[in-house]
Amino acid sequence: MGVDLALEALVKAYERRPGLAAQKAAWHRQQAELCHQRGEPDHEVHHYDRADNYEAVLDRLVRCRRCGRELTDPVSIERKIGPECYRRDARAQTAEPADQLPLNTGTDPL
Ligand SMILES: [Zn+2]
Repeated sequence: MGVDLALEALVKAYERRPGLAAQKAAWHRQQAELCHQRGEPDHEVHHYDRADNYEAVLDRLVRCRRCGRELTDPVSIERKIGPECYRRDARAQTAEPADQLPLNTGTDPL
């Protein structure tokens, strides 16, 4: 199958630089999001396809989707993200909603 051959070629091309595959996956996801915002569905689909390709490569190599590092423990392999990147993601999510902090308490920092 053509698709599998293409994936095979990508896996070969990136097996020695999985970090680059991870960067490209992230970049294409970002571009897809930008295309979505600009209302360019054709480009959006293109970038999602490319991101899927690179993530398929990382799957095959058993590598972290964020940084491309090798995954060793079953939990990390299951969620496809290494422990450090997973913790960083979790922190980013819990740190995010600043608007839930009470307003107008204490002194004005400005
Ligand atoms: Zn990682």
